[in-house]
Amino acid sequence: MGTYKTTAKDVKVFARAVKKWQAKMGLGRWAIFVQHKNDEDDPDGDAAWVLSDHETLVCTMALAVDWPLPVTKELLEMSAYHECLHLLLAPLMDYAGTSKHARQEEHRLIVALERMQFGKALSEHGETDGESED
Ligand SMILES: [Zn+2]
Repeated sequence: MGTYKTTAKDVKVFARAVKKWQAKMGLGRWAIFVQHKNDEDDPDGDAAWVLSDHETLVCTMALAVDWPLPVTKELLEMSAYHECLHLLLAPLMDYAGTSKHARQEEHRLIVALERMQFGKALSEHGETDGESED
């Protein structure tokens, strides 16, 4: 981790993709704030991450500065899609609580949707799409 860095231009591409998927997934009720920073709780974590509160409908979606793999437009787009799916599922996951099985199933669903949309999953690019991811 940390070999590759995302730029301000990458954030723009990411933010544009977030807007697109937000509209396509019917997530218009959410206020999404896009940021450019690593996950402080998980510095060796993922390419992007999301924090959301389904009571206030405020969401922070961040593109990590440090990337585990070369930054491409497609990966930025896929990362935005991945995080928007997390947001779509966030209220459901709140009801699931801290169940590890629910988190695993959440990712299984996301991977299936990525394959349907892009013909491959983000995790197949070598991203660590593990349990620590958000
Ligand atoms: Zn994920």
